[in-house]
Amino acid sequence: MEKILKGVVRFHETVTEEVRPMFARLVKEGQSPRALFITCADSRIVPNQITTTDPGDLFLLRNIGNLVPPYSVVSAGQAGSSVAAAVEYALEYLKIPNIIVCGHSDCGAMNAVRNFKKLPEGSHLRTWLSYAEQALSRLLEGKVLDDTLSTQNQLAQLNVLQQIAHLREYPIVQQKLQEGKVDLYAMFLDILNAEVQIYHPGRNRFVRVDPPVVEELAYLRRVFASVPGVRMNLPDTEAFQLQIGHSNGVQAVVEENRKAAVSGNKK
Ligand SMILES: [Zn+2]
Repeated sequence: MEKILKGVVRFHETVTEEVRPMFARLVKEGQSPRALFITCADSRIVPNQITTTDPGDLFLLRNIGNLVPPYSVVSAGQAGSSVAAAVEYALEYLKIPNIIVCGHSDCGAMNAVRNFKKLPEGSHLRTWLSYAEQALSRLLEGKVLDDTLSTQNQLAQLNVLQQIAHLREYPIVQQKLQEGKVDLYAMFLDILNAEVQIYHPGRNRFVRVDPPVVEELAYLRRVFASVPGVRMNLPDTEAFQLQIGHSNGVQAVVEENRKAAVSGNKK
């Protein structure tokens, strides 16, 4: 505790003056976050650090395993409504335009999910981690995104996509997607390499966020925005194929752009 309290003292002594104008503006204008950022409670993830963002930029929701209970479970009263309330508040009242689910490497929750059967029956942990069970099934079926990763990290990546799929079951998310008012993204923090990756729907894998990837994703977002009913809500390959399946043109354009971006980088 000593370290934390001394840190607070240091904040008061050295940082307060720097941040006071920013805080004053945030109080006067209210918050207008750029994203609802759903991530694991793991202490090694510092969302503002890995995105180099400021107070007011990220509306944070953290829990063990960055999970979003399926809407059927929430609406049946079988899961706490904390996540659902945060999603509702973020989209309905704060009008946040992006939702990011961010998983990470070396996640203890994913290890527990792998050993799910060993968790005590009826424990809160077991109930909570059951929301990642479908990702575990996909792992066991071999539907992994990157087989060079450890099993734990493969599961962590599948889990992020699974939680995005859960999010899409929420009526408020469906509504905002249809209105074109929200985009969904899947991220993955590789702690060992201090590398942040994002799910790239055109490549069906997580890729390091670098300038060409940022450009590609911006391009994809424009392409998707121009196709009725299709948004950047695609971190689920099957749904992705399904959604753009009606327009071969989009797939071709995406692929063309990807190649152009790649060859552009080499120049
Ligand atoms: Zn974790």
